[in-house]
Amino acid sequence: MARWVLHVDLDQFIAAVEVLRHPELRGRPVVVGGDGDPTKRGVVSTASYEAREHGVHSGLPLRTAAKRLPDAVFLPVDRAAYEEVSETVMEVLRSAGAVVEVLGWDEAFVGVDTEDPEAFGRSLARQVKEATQLDCTVGIGENKLQAKIATGFGKPAGVFRLTFANWFEVLGSRPTEALWGIGAKTAGKLAGLGIGTVSDLAAADPDALAAVFGPMTGPWLVLLARGRGDAEVDDSPYVARGHGREETFQRNIAGWSQVEAEVARIAGLLALDLASEPRPALRIVVKVRYAPFITETHGVTLATPSSDPAVIARAAAEALSRFTGRRPVRLLGVRAQFERGARLEGARLDRTLHADLAEGRVGGQRLPLGGDRETAALVQQAGAGVGLGHLPVGHRRRAH
Ligand SMILES: [Mg+2]
Repeated sequence: MARWVLHVDLDQFIAAVEVLRHPELRGRPVVVGGDGDPTKRGVVSTASYEAREHGVHSGLPLRTAAKRLPDAVFLPVDRAAYEEVSETVMEVLRSAGAVVEVLGWDEAFVGVDTEDPEAFGRSLARQVKEATQLDCTVGIGENKLQAKIATGFGKPAGVFRLTFANWFEVLGSRPTEALWGIGAKTAGKLAGLGIGTVSDLAAADPDALAAVFGPMTGPWLVLLARGRGDAEVDDSPYVARGHGREETFQRNIAGWSQVEAEVARIAGLLALDLASEPRPALRIVVKVRYAPFITETHGVTLATPSSDPAVIARAAAEALSRFTGRRPVRLLGVRAQFERGARLEGARLDRTLHADLAEGRVGGQRLPLGGDRETAALVQQAGAGVGLGHLPVGHRRRAH
């Protein structure tokens, strides 16, 4: 029997959960974000297809969304409700006799041995629908990259298979941004080198790209364009890479001393959270969003990993001191990054950050696929032979 990787992704998950609870909203533009009041500050967590048609998407300020779409229904974020539905979905997937790697609230990789992945995928979707009344799309691939991208072509509520056999037929003439792991920034840089499409990138010289993007990333990009990727579905428990606190202020903070005071306060809240976290913080990152909507971050690596509130407060203050802008501030955040766990980190999405990011489009600005092991392995294949020392040899399983 053949080994397949399936990517199961709920269709417009949060909006769909809300419509289930409020059936009268079906077919209307629904925007979920903040506390549901579009006159207040906050960002859109998710928007229904009807809202997206009017240019309302996740990450947009709520007030802008209200301007674009004054008739939309605005709802508060109800994390607990989404978590509960998410748990049900993951239980359904786990009960299907396959390996399940949770990728976010509404998506997971499923590793399965079967002769008919379409039938298996359709059966999964049916069971998810029976348990939750929600639709999902299933992408089928020979590795995670292919499965993940396949989902974009199957939406909504479909099944799509993307393998080495149809990779270039489906993706070859598409922009490099169609690849999971390539965002606008990298795509722009590639375009500057005359590399516009997936086919262009697949044919590019790994060494030339290494010179531009670095010895790990350059060759990795080429292999990405050739459809290579990690095929190992890992069901070890999800481990968040970090934990953060952030606050949007209803009125801009104008004085920098007040910004400092607020960062100290938020760092204190973070330290309280960390008291129940077994891993010490490695690095503290401060995020400042200046008005109207310009976000910057600066981080400080701790001399030794720590959960000590005083150490965290000092590091947050030091990180803040690296900001040179003195414009009014609308949001502040402090985040702790933990020591590496057993899981690969490169491909992880923090649950707290996950807000339907790639819904409804192919690829998008997801985090790179694969972690160190995968990147290193790819580099090895490309012959660049760097950074292989940390490869946990023998723990790696690749399909291609
Ligand atoms: Mg989804």
